[in-house]
Amino acid sequence: RKGNVIITGASSGLGLATAKAIGESGDWHVIMACRDFLKAEKAAKSLGIPKENYTVMHLDLASLESVRQFVDNFRRSGRPLDALVCNAAVYLPTAKEPTFTADGFELSVGTNHLGHFLLSRLLLDDLKQSDYPQKRLIIVGSITGNTNTLAGNVPPKANLGDLRGLSGGLNSLNCSPMIDGGEFDGAKAYKDSKVCNMLTMQEFHRRFHEETGIAFASLYPGCIAETGLFRNHIPLFRTLFPPFQKYITKGYVSEEEAGKRLAQVVRDPSLSKSGVYWSWNSASSSFENQLSKEASDAEKARKLWEVSEKLVGLA
Ligand code: NDP
Repeated sequence: RKGNVIITGASSGLGLATAKAIGESGDWHVIMACRDFLKAEKAAKSLGIPKENYTVMHLDLASLESVRQFVDNFRRSGRPLDALVCNAAVYLPTAKEPTFTADGFELSVGTNHLGHFLLSRLLLDDLKQSDYPQKRLIIVGSITGNTNTLAGNVPPKANLGDLRGLSGGLNSLNCSPMIDGGEFDGAKAYKDSKVCNMLTMQEFHRRFHEETGIAFASLYPGCIAETGLFRNHIPLFRTLFPPFQKYITKGYVSEEEAGKRLAQVVRDPSLSKSGVYWSWNSASSSFENQLSKEASDAEKARKLWEVSEKLVGLA
């Protein structure tokens, strides 16, 4: 039978390019989990993804109720689940004030981490039940959360501290909208959320890989400088960033190439190892990359898991 993969945020950028790479093969059915149904439907059509190979389903990660509703709807579709890709994200580098999810969490960490945390915890059962030979749960990471890299050292740097802001519910009323309890900084909140994504993947691996056989993975697909992720940045940045990445850092990758990379992590038999953070070299060959000290801190991963469980109502 065909494999079935859910990709969050498949209405643009990396998620859409991955839906195309996987959806045009015919061996997989792609469930595009998107907050804007019409945008996703139009995007899939304009890229020519064959109609029988995809379904758009509504998911707003900035609402825990919507996440639960999505899981119910997916189960009602009767499809087995063979792979889940947590890809959607928001990045608010120029925001002066924090904004919040329906449940009152700061928007970047609320969407990128907590929404996906609940989604992947609930869908773990569905993955367990699948009889597909290779089952995978992938959470998209980023170089920017890794302070062992040049890009990760551009201030403000990611730092989760002792998670006091997260424990307080990530809102200014109780404590702070930032995980470490500090002042709001949109660029840092995004980087922190990516550290959470990479820690969550490893905690999944430690808790569930042996028992379930599911491969848990994260990746940095390269700098896809033209995606919507940078839509909230100042115009000058948006003009200069793509050529800067292309010619100076040489980290630039096209949406199409990045989509092919993520598609490999979903279905390539040679990328089936669990607990890995994948990257690609300049010749586009995949390799197992090293995470920063904080992004591979097992004690922090455990604590993050426990606090997140409480916030999303699982504990
Ligand atoms: P895009 O902005 O193009 O894509 C983000 C997607 O997330 C969009 O489809 C967006 O939906 C969706 N989304 C945002 N908020 C929600 C929500 N509340 N509920 C559901 N979906 C939502 O950016 P990219 O393609 O660049 O980003 C994809 C992933 O790649 C992210 O995880 C990012 O961290 C990662 N990444 C990107 C890099 C880059 O250089 N661009 C580098 C490394 C990692 P909508 O279309 O409705 O806005």
